[in-house]
Amino acid sequence: MIQKGVEIPNTFRMKVKADCFVEYDSEETLADIDFDTLPKPLFHIGSGSNLLFTGDFHGTILHSGIKSVDTSSVVDGIVEATVGSGVVFDDLCEWAAVQGLWGLENLSHIPGEVGASAVQNIGAYGVEVKDVISTIRCYDILERVFVEISADECRYGYRDSIFKHRPAKERYIVTAVTFRLSTVAQPRLDYGHLRSAVETACGVNSSKENTHGTGLTPALIRQVVTEIRKGKLPEPEEIGSAGSFFKNPVVDQSVYDSILKSRQAEFGAEATVPHYPAGENLVKIPAAWLIEQCGWKGYIHGGAAVYEKQPLVLINHSGHALPSDILELESLIIDSVHSRFGILLSPEVDHL
Ligand SMILES: Cc1cc2nc3c(=O)[nH]c(=O)nc-3n(C[C@H](O)[C@H](O)[C@H](O)COP(=O)(O)OP(=O)(O)OC[C@H]3O[C@@H](n4cnc5c(N)ncnc54)[C@H](O)[C@@H]3O)c2cc1C
Repeated sequence: MIQKGVEIPNTFRMKVKADCFVEYDSEETLADIDFDTLPKPLFHIGSGSNLLFTGDFHGTILHSGIKSVDTSSVVDGIVEATVGSGVVFDDLCEWAAVQGLWGLENLSHIPGEVGASAVQNIGAYGVEVKDVISTIRCYDILERVFVEISADECRYGYRDSIFKHRPAKERYIVTAVTFRLSTVAQPRLDYGHLRSAVETACGVNSSKENTHGTGLTPALIRQVVTEIRKGKLPEPEEIGSAGSFFKNPVVDQSVYDSILKSRQAEFGAEATVPHYPAGENLVKIPAAWLIEQCGWKGYIHGGAAVYEKQPLVLINHSGHALPSDILELESLIIDSVHSRFGILLSPEVDHL
């Protein structure tokens, strides 16, 4: 279906239009599209939950309405589910949990669609979707053929894959993703407070010794993860956002050492700086901590704001924020974190 001048769906709720919007509901209708006649550039979206549209889009927005789900029989405890790119990712997580299949439960309640999950390598609570993807089926716009790309070929990294960069970005449209889900319990609870939250919520022994996950189910972990997320992050139906706006910066050990030193000089020897190892001589510092230290938590700028409960998230506070409100707030935050800590934050959200 080709439409002109329609509003582009996006969870930030920016009121922006595309010159042309094309939705297809099967691989056959996708292959029938005459790409040569469509206004350029082309850009494929899912739910628009990792995007900031900075204005109307003068080109063609593509969207998948492919909603198929095909499953294999169980072989060695593994079920392969091949899922259409237009399926809502959380619907897939719910389906897997209801079937008692393990692998997606920690990724519950992440907004967006299945196609984008494989592009973004979405992650939460110590799990990345690449851990359960086996292959990705794509339409190659240049050669006009369907291809299967293995997860190994996707060069997955932190919220990164070949699909986020040229030439793959301009060449491949994801039409389906095959996930390898397990009938054997594989609870992964070692991230943050997930283990204690599971124990508190359900009274189940989730200790590391309980390696078979006795008493645990994917549905139970999904429920706990969903509750935690609802308490910390804005619900896209209520407050516009694109989730984490900035990437967590990875810095040299020496940068971390000097931040720690000046913090201890100011607050005493007990003062700490949150950090995680990120490779040889490299340290990851949570961007949320840096932003909060600069006093931005809850700050309102025009129609935009820094989310009170999680400063890594910029929100459409008024419901009518303009792209410029978000962009100005982004610059203010980047400048202040840079001048205070010498660290340059970069956005996780794609700007268009
Ligand atoms: C409240 C909130 C919480 C969030 N929490 C998390 C989180 O915990 N972890 C996390 O990783 N992310 C999180 N996100 C970000 C977002 O949910 C993910 O990045 C998600 O995968 C985006 O899906 P989407 O369908 O909205 O894709 P879009 O934002 O529309 O697109 C994302 C990218 O995928 C490409 N793309 C989309 N569909 C296709 C396709 N079929 N073929 C080729 N390319 C395609 C787009 O071109 C773009 O580059 C959060 C977002 C919000 C709003």
